[in-house]
Amino acid sequence: LAMNFRGPFRVRADRNRPYPEIKHPQDAIVRVTRSCICGSDLHLYHGLVPDTRVGMTFGHEFTGVVEELGSAVTNLKVGDHVMVPFNIACGACPFCQQQLFGNCHESNPQATAVAGIYGYSHTAGGYDGGQAEYVRVPYANVGPTIIPQGMDLDDAVLLTDVVPTGYQAAEMGGIQKGDTVVVFGAGPVGIMAAKCAWLFGAGRVIVIDHIDYRLEFVRNYAQCEAYNFKELGDVVVFLKKTTGWFGADVCIDAVGCDAAGDAFQSLVGRKLPLTGGSATALHWAINSVKKGGIVSIVGVYGPLDTLVPIGNVVNKGITIRANQASVKRLLPTLIDHVMSGRLNPKAIISHRLPLEEVAEGYHIFSAKRDNCIKPVLIPPH
Ligand code: NAD
Ligand code: ZN
Repeated sequence: LAMNFRGPFRVRADRNRPYPEIKHPQDAIVRVTRSCICGSDLHLYHGLVPDTRVGMTFGHEFTGVVEELGSAVTNLKVGDHVMVPFNIACGACPFCQQQLFGNCHESNPQATAVAGIYGYSHTAGGYDGGQAEYVRVPYANVGPTIIPQGMDLDDAVLLTDVVPTGYQAAEMGGIQKGDTVVVFGAGPVGIMAAKCAWLFGAGRVIVIDHIDYRLEFVRNYAQCEAYNFKELGDVVVFLKKTTGWFGADVCIDAVGCDAAGDAFQSLVGRKLPLTGGSATALHWAINSVKKGGIVSIVGVYGPLDTLVPIGNVVNKGITIRANQASVKRLLPTLIDHVMSGRLNPKAIISHRLPLEEVAEGYHIFSAKRDNCIKPVLIPPH
């Protein structure tokens, strides 16, 4: 049983998926125990990522039990319960050696496997992902990490993407003690970024979205201010005003491509003139950060979503930092935060569905229905 992509806005559970094979001595096969749907999956679901092929299985946030090991895997045993970072990385190239696991350079499919992301189109390696009963895990010595004794699986599965991504967003912001940090987006990633901003010493954290139940959630969960941009008038003016007209020290984009152009439409009252979505949050981030401030981007964009006010970046002397999260680099720190109770990721899980109901999971998460924040899929074994 596995999720199967049938085309934009159409996914289903497929009962006839073949059991994955070990293709390389460094592979493992993992029996999935938890698998989440991510905002990044929505870009695939909305048809915005090039070369997303019909028949593919998505899913890059999963935990599972090791079933089979290739002959070159030495760091795992059959039966180990692991969390699997979303980055597929070789561990040996110059980028992996600097712990830039989201920027692995391995591109030789004969040698081993190409760098990429589980279940994220053929532009990211063409791997089937973890919204399945079983999944092939390449470079099994590098990514999979044994779940510590006593850690809840719901926390562990969020350590494969959402927690490290939110944390890295705050880290890239270079937050100094007392800084005002504005986070655009109150999805799972923005919620985690807001929570983590305090760990870096923020003095004030403001979250912007337009979905009230998410704003209410983040206000309680991250103990921050949260505002609905539809009620603010001009968002940039509001943020300037509330920061003594200087602008925020740090702005974080945890939105990425707004496929539906919802933000744009709700402000100007008409559909977007572009195809491919809008970069409204990134505009706001650049325009409301202070001179010399930092804009940290973890939101995902397609090639057509790049119209941003670059002149303002130059004139204000803004530093932009952006990347895929380097999950494996951050795991030791984040495991410690979770085990000590400083971070409680599982509180964001709002829905728990059997894998058979994957279509419903995509539907409610995409439509932001039923107060959905983070859905987790449970395979049937
Ligand atoms: P999500 O879809 O649940 O949340 C996005 C939120 O942004 C929604 O609540 C939406 O209402 C809000 N939003 C839309 N337009 C806005 C605007 N103009 N201003 C403020 N808020 C706005 O998604 P998520 O799971 O939280 O992921 C967020 C982004 O992070 C996605 O683009 C995803 O692809 C990306 N992501 C990146 C990485 C990485 O490693 N860099 C990892 C995971 C996710
Ligand atoms: Zn994800």
